[in-house]
Amino acid sequence: MTHAGKTGSPAAFHVLVKPTGAVCNLDCSYCFYLSKEMLYPGSRFRMADETLRLYLRQLIEAHRSPEVTISWQGGEPLLMGRDFFRRAVAHAESWCRPGMRLAYTMQTNGTLIDDDWCAFFKQHGFLVGISVDGPQAMHDAYRRGRNGQPSFARVMRGLSLLRKHGVDFNTLTCIHRANAEHPLEVYRFLRDDCGSTHLQLIPVVERVRGVAVPLPRTGAGDAAAAPATPWRQRPLHLQESAFVTDRSVRPQQYGEFLIGVFDEWVRHDVGRVFIQMFESALANWMQVPAGMCVHSARCGTAVALEHNGDLYSCDHFVEPQHRLGNIAEHGLAELVGSSRQRKFGADKLDTLPRTCRRCEVRFACHGGCPKDRFVRAQDGEPGLNYLCDGYKAFFGHVDGPMCAMRELLRLGRAPEQVMRYYREARAAEHPVD
Ligand code: SF4
Ligand code: SF4
Repeated sequence: MTHAGKTGSPAAFHVLVKPTGAVCNLDCSYCFYLSKEMLYPGSRFRMADETLRLYLRQLIEAHRSPEVTISWQGGEPLLMGRDFFRRAVAHAESWCRPGMRLAYTMQTNGTLIDDDWCAFFKQHGFLVGISVDGPQAMHDAYRRGRNGQPSFARVMRGLSLLRKHGVDFNTLTCIHRANAEHPLEVYRFLRDDCGSTHLQLIPVVERVRGVAVPLPRTGAGDAAAAPATPWRQRPLHLQESAFVTDRSVRPQQYGEFLIGVFDEWVRHDVGRVFIQMFESALANWMQVPAGMCVHSARCGTAVALEHNGDLYSCDHFVEPQHRLGNIAEHGLAELVGSSRQRKFGADKLDTLPRTCRRCEVRFACHGGCPKDRFVRAQDGEPGLNYLCDGYKAFFGHVDGPMCAMRELLRLGRAPEQVMRYYREARAAEHPVD
């Protein structure tokens, strides 16, 4: 990342925009964002057109790259209605400079998608991200409506409409206690039943204050139990405390989940299914920038914009002490390039504990996300990532195939040729297959 602009802002950056704030038509029990509604008491939680226009102009003007990504998220962004997004597209296109390309993305729970939404997405080339946690029982374990009604059937309906209309989509799957023991079932469901070729696998690490027992020093042990409650009965979610809910994935479990998926992928799907975590790992093995902030040395180029124009350092740090300012007062480029935001990104590297600095897979892991660095290392130093044991297991496991894919790429060959090695190894082990 370079900070070469007049304002010190990077040439390109990512803004997750929340036009409805935290408002959503579902009430998923692990959602860290719903309680953010408390930050804006009395608000209608709808982005005003004035803020929308200001944001899009500032975003496009600040970019010094040929492509600008315009990303919508929530809460549930489709609650804004299509007219809002029609105006957004028209505004954005009016600011687009010659030679510049606009890429639209929408992260949604999928339950409100209908034919008209699909036609809109298709017309403007949206990439739609659908949140789905696996087969019905695993998905409905936590992804439910306000009265506890399951959401799986509605999500799958939305997904099939996207496919019918040929809309580009990817899937975002949270890994938690209800699905973490079933990597193959989850992966095959996403690949075969959902038809997903681009997957994001996100560990649920849900910190809570003041319940049950503290985590052990390695971070690998049992997590505290917290009951599932509607968000209005939960406290404002802050990245504080060293307790996690019983919904949270355990570190070793997360590592084993990733290994389970990887072993299937590397034998059958390299080059046709793209899993963000694996792509990012390969980039780190190649020593080129990784696509995931979590596994990059520094971060800070993915900010979050609330419905009223308030900008925060990251989607995971929408809390008062990480509010950078309002775009109506300071401008997006100034806030993204501010010394405060640069420090936020640099801290990811500068606060690495000794254990990470000495770790042999640090080049691939980079200590994970600061939001998850809340356990003590064996030497007693605080600030080790809760998921460390899982990361170590995963990155250690994939070293061989990652090196093989790196060599294939260096020789100008396709990395999918790595699958042949596994086929030949299997044929040697089972000559009559
Ligand atoms: S805090 Fe975590 S999620 Fe946020 S930008 Fe940094 S690494 Fe990414
Ligand atoms: S695997 Fe653990 S020790 Fe190694 S860099 Fe990652 S978090 Fe740090």
